[in-house]
Formats: sequence, C-alpha cells, structure tokens
Amino acid sequence: MRKPIPYSRQNVTEEDVEAVAQILRSDWLTTGPAITNFESALKEYTGAPFAFAVSNATTGLHLACLAVGLKPGEELWTSPNSFVASANCGIYCGAKVDFVDIDPKTYNLSISALREKLKSGSRPKVLVTVDFSGQTGDLKEIAQLGREYGFKVLQDASHSIGGRYLDERVGACNYSDATIFSLHAVKVLTTGGEGGVVLTRDPQIAHKLQRLRSHGITRDDKEFIGPKQGGWDYQMIDLGYNYRMTDAQAAMGLSQLKRIESLVQRRHRLADTYDRELSGLPLTLPVRLKDRVSGLHLYVLRVHQNRRKSLYDFLHSNGILANVHYIPIHTQPYYQELGFRLGQFPEAEAYYQEALSIPLYVGLSDEEQQYVIDTIKGFFK
Ligand SMILES: *Cc1c(COP(=O)(O)O)cnc(C)c1O
Repeated sequence: MRKPIPYSRQNVTEEDVEAVAQILRSDWLTTGPAITNFESALKEYTGAPFAFAVSNATTGLHLACLAVGLKPGEELWTSPNSFVASANCGIYCGAKVDFVDIDPKTYNLSISALREKLKSGSRPKVLVTVDFSGQTGDLKEIAQLGREYGFKVLQDASHSIGGRYLDERVGACNYSDATIFSLHAVKVLTTGGEGGVVLTRDPQIAHKLQRLRSHGITRDDKEFIGPKQGGWDYQMIDLGYNYRMTDAQAAMGLSQLKRIESLVQRRHRLADTYDRELSGLPLTLPVRLKDRVSGLHLYVLRVHQNRRKSLYDFLHSNGILANVHYIPIHTQPYYQELGFRLGQFPEAEAYYQEALSIPLYVGLSDEEQQYVIDTIKGFFK
C-alpha cells in the first residue's frame, strides 16, 4: 500500500531540527536572541521596517486589528473565501463583520464588488484582504480605496510568504497597514507547527503590536505613569495578551527562511506540471497572474459538471487526501446565527461547490505527483 498523499505537508530538514536543538540547549527558551534574529531576517527579507513574531496568524490578525484601532461596533470586511480566522479577528474586537464577494477568476476579494459596496454608503474601519492560494489580489487598488474612504488595510498573507506583488516582496507593506503571515505546519514555511508574524511600516502600529503581544506591559520608564520604583518595575498600559512565539520556533523559522526561494520554486515547478498535465480535462485550473508571484500554498481545481464530491471521494479512496478551501465563512453556523444567509455572496458560494485542492508541497516527489495526475485522469476516463 502506498502511503497516503496529503494536500499539504511540512518540509523539515536536519538543519531545522539542529537549529531547534541548539535553542533547547541554550540559556533562552522564550523572547531571547532567536526571536530578535528571526525578526531581523524577516525585516531584511521583506523590506518592512517592523516585524513581530507571534504565536500564530490568528493572534497576529487579532493584534493587527487592535493596533490599527478597530473598536467595538465598527466594521471589518473580508473575503468569504478564507479561513474563519480572517473574519473572527473582527469579532474578537467586538466589531461587526461583513464580507465582499470574490472575483471568479482569482478567487480573491473582488475589487468591483468592493467599490460597489463602498458606493452604497457603508464603511469598514478595517478591510482584511486575503492572498488566496498565495497570490495577492488587487492590493494597490484596495490601498487606494482605503485612503479615499478612510479604512485600514490588513493583508492576510497566510498563504503567500515567499511571493511577490508588483515591485515588492509579500510582507513589504507598501500597500497595507500591516501584513500577517501564518507559519502553521501546512503553510509554505513553518516554525514547527504553529507560528505567525505581523509586519508593518507604521511606527505607531509597531509600538502597539509590540506591547499588546506581551500583556500590554512596558518596562521602558519613559512610558511610565509616575516615577519608576526600582529595577523590577513594569507597568501595564493596555489590556494585552500573551501572543508570543518561543525561541525554538523562531530558530526553526530562521532556518527555513534561508531556503524560502527554493521552497517556492519547487511549488511552482509542481504547479507547472499540473498545468500541463491537467489541461483538457473538465476542470478550471488556477490562474497565475504575470505581474506577481504566488507563494502557491494551494493548487485549487474547479471541478465542473457537479463532480467535485465524487472526485474528492475517488481521490481519497486512492490514498490522495485532497481538501476543500474554503467553505464560505458566512455559511458557517456561527455566522448564520449572526444573520448571514446563503445566496448573499454568490461567486464565493458557486466557487465553493467546485473547489478542490490537490496535493502541493515541497516533499511531493515527481513520482507521487504523476500518481495524482494519473488518478485524476483515470477518474475522467
Ligand atoms: C491558516 C490561515 C489562518 C490562520 O493561521 P494560524 O497560523 O493557523 O492561526 C488565517 N488566515 C488564512 C487565510 C489561513 O489560511
């Protein structure tokens, strides 16, 4: 029996393991030099002047919402075609969440739907745009609308570390108030299971991110209310959280970041092979736009003729663990309870009926990929 082939899988080398082991033998296990080194490497790599390692992208999104000033009763808009965390961060802040339907070609938030919604009069305080599958959407246009209508732009780049958008590396934050990476095990780069990063160019946002990541506490007596009582003194200025990353995670992240280009390149070669081999079947293959480079977290097919479920079941019965990204967030019971209804975001709903993510990860061998291709072709024979 062949070992099951997942839709995604971590890439961990002996160097990564050694980097983690070194930390475990060292003096610092949390908030030590490995965190500083990882954050410096991220700043250098992306070009963003501020980077904060956090426990995962969900806490990163929450911190970013707080840092840009999202308040109870204000609105956060995002794409319904995302993981629930892209919307939940608004709920954590007491905000009202709403959605903007997707573009039927890129499956990213539709810029025309956004324009229309803004013209109708309502305004978000924060817009979370999601780089679906690793490809950044119309971020520059969204940033322009943000200036025009006065909302903050958060880029959920959970899928797109290692990608490029126009003249920047994803994470450079030239077109966002903050950008958030997920370093979860299934994503393009991992810190060993869980992990995230928040990047920004704005010193005030950076200041808030840093403080809120660690309980809202400061040890800088220039920020103290009243005099410092002694070397031990610290003050809690805001209600913050413990959303920190550990040093072992940071060391692994740094080790992985050194090979980010080759990780993304391998994903592109695998995607090229799928593009070539799967054309001509009753499928829509994903579009890679010319002016940007996808991080390629996912390779998503649209399966026509109402056959997505049967292809999913067929692949699973053959040991290929395809998956579906995403069940539209507004159709989840929690969001239905808030008043959302089926039919509100028809492009996202139509897309969901047909979407299927097939295996794409660095360790997928050419032979395994050929098996995936042959199995899909066999299904349509
Ligand atoms: C994975 C993911 C998240 C959450 O990431 P965690 O690091 O698991 O918290 C958020 N948004 C999107 C689009 C994701 O894919």
